[in-house]
Amino acid sequence: MNPEVFVQQAMSVISDDPYDRVPSMVIQMMTKPDVVFDTHCHIFDKYCVTKNYFLLRLLGNLDPDKSFDEILEQIVGSNKDNEFDELFKIMKMKNMTEVLDHYLQNFACQQNIVCVPLMMDLDEGWYFKAEKTQKDQILELKEIMQHRAILPFLSVDPRKAKKRGDNNLYKLFLDAFTPDENNNRFFGIKVYPALGYLASDVSLWPIYRICEAKNIPVVTHCGGSIIRSYQNDYDMYGYQIKNNEVVSLKYHLNIKNSKERANFLNHPKHWEVVLKKYPKLKLNLGHFGGIDNWLQLSKTGRNEVIETINRLMGYENVYADISYDIVENKFAKVFLDNYDNNITIRNKTLFGTDYWMALAAGDFKKNAGEFLTKCGPRKDKLMHENPMTYLFKK
Ligand SMILES: [Zn+2]
Repeated sequence: MNPEVFVQQAMSVISDDPYDRVPSMVIQMMTKPDVVFDTHCHIFDKYCVTKNYFLLRLLGNLDPDKSFDEILEQIVGSNKDNEFDELFKIMKMKNMTEVLDHYLQNFACQQNIVCVPLMMDLDEGWYFKAEKTQKDQILELKEIMQHRAILPFLSVDPRKAKKRGDNNLYKLFLDAFTPDENNNRFFGIKVYPALGYLASDVSLWPIYRICEAKNIPVVTHCGGSIIRSYQNDYDMYGYQIKNNEVVSLKYHLNIKNSKERANFLNHPKHWEVVLKKYPKLKLNLGHFGGIDNWLQLSKTGRNEVIETINRLMGYENVYADISYDIVENKFAKVFLDNYDNNITIRNKTLFGTDYWMALAAGDFKKNAGEFLTKCGPRKDKLMHENPMTYLFKK
């Protein structure tokens, strides 16, 4: 589908009122006085990703950059404390409803919760294709909306702009945002630059235009680099700011170390040009830069990634979520110090868990619970007030 036709269609059929996209289960949930939002979680099952995705989660950094000995050592040393038992359970689940219910029954901080599940699309940036197509995943998530309080986010990959048929990026977007027979449709989109593209990729430009015009929230991965592409040495086409103008950019990606490459692609600075062009875009920088940057901030008092996020938060609708970070026990102190002393952080931070990614990071329930206890009365802003503005403001 060509981008002009896409923009024309999307402009005419998609509402600019986020409330039109809220399913009745979420409306009902939002009548509960203590309702909270988990703005960043994942409920995809094994058929939505690939076998080696699970291997990677199990083995942490199993990647071609490591030596054979290092990988062997990791395999031998893993699962000493049954730390992967939770992941094995997820691997055995048959569909996304089971994965979601496992969260709601065992890990959610309370019963009255609205979840924002983010899809994952590894088709273009990974070695193998998932068994369940994106189109089928969209159908399944819309079906789940009929019975559970969720606001699903579609993963978008600019390399799918060139695909034909059902797997075309713009076609998938229209599919997701078109109501099904129960009037259920998607609520937001997910961008994952570490899979091998720039946040300002030319093929995402029409998508951002629609998201800004229709108040569709965007979340981008802006943290850890475990999930990343292993392709290198190719040209990327996006935009940049030159003499205060938005102009096109051809960038030759050539960073040999895949972790460094992912850190480069994940960097929030790439969003600067997107926000210059679409200043009202609702954007959530997922993981608030990631735990390593927060730990560095707590050690040295400075961190360039977090400072960039702070600057971008100057835009009206830019937020950051603290998913995954909350399970690292050193995070609470440094984050809450910053929260208390910085009004932007106070108004622009969103609670999220990163279930089930975070299950591999230790005792999720205990650690997340301790974090929330330390938050005390700040919970209301993080889990309710700020998410409400990010998700629903028109
Ligand atoms: Zn995530």
